[in-house]
Amino acid sequence: MFELGLFWLLLPVVAAASWFFARTGTELVSGARVDRLSSGYFRGLSHLLNEEPDKAIEVFLSIAELDQEAVETQLALGSLFRRRGEVGRAIRLHQDLLKRDNLSKAQKTAALFELGEDYLRAGLLDRSEALFSDLVAADIETAEALRKLVTIYEAERDWPRAIDHAERLEQLTGRPQGTVIAHYRCELAERARSRGQLQIAQDELEQALKADPNCARAEILAAGMAMEQGDVTRAVRTFERAARVDMDVLPLLLDALMAGYEQLGDNDRARQFLTEMCARYPGIAPVLALSRHIARDQGEEAAETYLARELRHHPSVAGLSRLAQIGLRRASEETRPVLVAIAEVADRMIDQGSGYLCRRCGFGARSHHWQCPSCKSWDTLKPQHRLLGE
Ligand SMILES: [Zn+2]
Repeated sequence: MFELGLFWLLLPVVAAASWFFARTGTELVSGARVDRLSSGYFRGLSHLLNEEPDKAIEVFLSIAELDQEAVETQLALGSLFRRRGEVGRAIRLHQDLLKRDNLSKAQKTAALFELGEDYLRAGLLDRSEALFSDLVAADIETAEALRKLVTIYEAERDWPRAIDHAERLEQLTGRPQGTVIAHYRCELAERARSRGQLQIAQDELEQALKADPNCARAEILAAGMAMEQGDVTRAVRTFERAARVDMDVLPLLLDALMAGYEQLGDNDRARQFLTEMCARYPGIAPVLALSRHIARDQGEEAAETYLARELRHHPSVAGLSRLAQIGLRRASEETRPVLVAIAEVADRMIDQGSGYLCRRCGFGARSHHWQCPSCKSWDTLKPQHRLLGE
C-alpha cells in the first residue's frame, strides 16, 4: 500500500527535479539528455501516482546519477532515505557526495549536516560529535552545529559538555538557554546525590537556580535533600516555594510536603496551603489531600460532604474513587456492592489513562518525566487536569 506520508517525503525530490528541468531545459543541457532526464522524471512521478514508492525512488536515483550536478536532488534523496529509516543508504549517498571536488561551500556544508544527522539517527554518536565539532572549530554554521552537539551530549548524558555548549550557544545567539542548563545541573545534582556527594549536589542546585531562578525541579530536589538531612522546616518552605513557582509540579511534591507538615505538627499551615492550592490549582490533587485532613479532624461524614461538593467544580475519576471509598466505610449491605463497583471501575480507568501529556508533541505517560521521552523537550510533560488527571 502506498503511504500518503511518503508522497510528502518525496516532495523535496520532486521540487528539486522540477527546478532542475526548468533550469537545464532552457540553457545548460540540450537534446537527448534532457529528453532522457525529463522522461525519467515523469516516469518517477507516475510511479508515485501509481502507488509504487520503491520504483519511484529508483527512478529519482537514476535521475540523480544522470545529472551529477543535481546536488540538491541528491541531498533530498539522502534525507528521504534517512526519514524512511534507510540510514545506511543515506550515509553512503552523503559520503559519496562529499567525495566530489566540485561542490560549492554551501553544498558541502549542507551535505556535512545531512551526514551528521545520519550518524545521529544511526546511533553513531561519536562520529556525529566529531563531525559537528569540526564544523564548530571551522566556524561553519556554528549556532546550528552547537545545537546538534548539545543534542548529542544530552543523548550521551554528558551533562558538563551539554552545559558548556549550551552556554556557548547562548553567547553566540543571545537566545537564553537557562531553562535547559538548569535541568542539566539538576541531572548532575541527582547523580551526585545518588553517590552520597551531598555538597556537590547542593552546589549544582545553587547553580541550577542561578541559571533559571524559576526551576521548580531544583527546589524539589533541594527540599528532598533538606528532608533527608532532618531540616524539615526548610524542606517544607522549599516545597511550598516550588509549588508557587510552578503549580504543575504540585502532584510531584504533595505527599512529601504533607509528611513534612505532619512531622512539624503544623496542621494550620497545612490547611492554609491546601486551601490556597485548591483555589489556584485546576486539578483534583489538593482537594483530595484536604479531604483527608477533614476526615481526620472532623470525621468521614464532613469529608464526604466536602468532596461531593468539590467534585462538581473539579469532575475527576480519582475524586470519584475516593468518594466511593469514604462511602464504603459507612455503607449498608445494600449499597456496598454499588460503591465497590464504582471504586473498582474508577481505579481501572485511572490505571489505563495517561496522567501526564507532553504539551509540545502530545506524548502521554503514566508517570512524570522531566525530559519528554518522545520529543526530548525539557519540562513539557504536564499533569492532565481533566477527568483522569491529578
Ligand atoms: Zn514531547
